[in-house]
Amino acid sequence: MDLIPVSRPSFGEEELASVKTVFDSGWLGLGAQVLEFEQEVGKFLGAKNVVCTNAGTTALHLALDALGIGKGDEVIVPSFTFVATIQAITETGATPVFCDIHADDLNMDINDVRKKISPKTKVIMPVHYRGIPCDMDEIQSLAKKHNLKVVEDAAHAFGSSYKGKKIGSFGDIACFSFDPIKNISCGEGGAVVFQDDILLERVQQKRILGIDRDTWSRYRNERSWFYDVVTQGYRYHMSNISAAVGLVQLKKFDKMNRRKIEVATRYDAAFDGVEGITLLRNEGYKEIGLFVYILKINKGRNELMDYLTRNGVGSGVHYIPSHVFSFYKKEGVHLPITEQIYDEILTLPLFPDITDAQVEHVITSVKSGVVAR
Ligand SMILES: *Cc1c(COP(=O)(O)O)cnc(C)c1O
Repeated sequence: MDLIPVSRPSFGEEELASVKTVFDSGWLGLGAQVLEFEQEVGKFLGAKNVVCTNAGTTALHLALDALGIGKGDEVIVPSFTFVATIQAITETGATPVFCDIHADDLNMDINDVRKKISPKTKVIMPVHYRGIPCDMDEIQSLAKKHNLKVVEDAAHAFGSSYKGKKIGSFGDIACFSFDPIKNISCGEGGAVVFQDDILLERVQQKRILGIDRDTWSRYRNERSWFYDVVTQGYRYHMSNISAAVGLVQLKKFDKMNRRKIEVATRYDAAFDGVEGITLLRNEGYKEIGLFVYILKINKGRNELMDYLTRNGVGSGVHYIPSHVFSFYKKEGVHLPITEQIYDEILTLPLFPDITDAQVEHVITSVKSGVVAR
């Protein structure tokens, strides 16, 4: 039996045709399509400045680096995230200080953040887990009080709104990912999104090797031979090929997201009240760009995963908390909620092209698996 995957990108002829225009132009790297994609993403989000990168991880690193974060600085971040978030912090030389999460939506616990602020703290980094926004009012007012920046890891939250405002349209900096399984995909890609015009030049320069004026000539598919290098930079820019894919995916976002929410709503209805299963808080997915479907299995999560595999249903654990990895393990770090839910969380198949028959098979298998233990 073919396994129903946990996730699968929705790519087709339109994406191929868009990439072909880039092949025909002969300009494959940073160029006109990247500019167009940045402008379209800016319009979609209602954001002023969008700088696209080759990954979400590099977007996060670029954002922190542009803010001058480095050795001796601390960044408060949930341990419960994809390790990319943490690697982006440690790459700058800064220290991640792990905070705990709320048991109901698995987002950053602001009270724990408050306890972990020290004189070295420079940034709070919320992760909008599954696409459900963190409490940004609380986070921003705490940051303001202590003169900290907020860099949002919005890798899950492309298209989500907080109190009627799109994530990325407000706040200091939000970073998105367009990797193969995210809400929209460029194949691989990311974006640094912010409103501050003063930051724009620095982020653009750092994105392409610290070169001073290359971005604007490349946006016209041209290259100037003379340039200056003004800062430490990286090779983080997006390619026209990726942007061409992203332009098509952006147009498909509403349709893809609507289907995912329809399926998640069906899962919620099917699993609500089932013994051994706890649903996560979701507010009815109102104004949400939904990334994944996750629930809590109160006991025997790993056995259920094996059972699902035998029944042709893929499942996953998003994520292994970062503070348990060898590289980040430290004496005395205890995050009770994070450690508890790590044994309980289960990710079920959710992607735009999942069929109704597949959805029903997932539901039947989970229900019989929970009982079968
Ligand atoms: C996917 C992801 C990233 C990194 O994005 P890439 O494009 O894969 O580099 C960062 N943080 C979280 C929470 C993610 O899910």
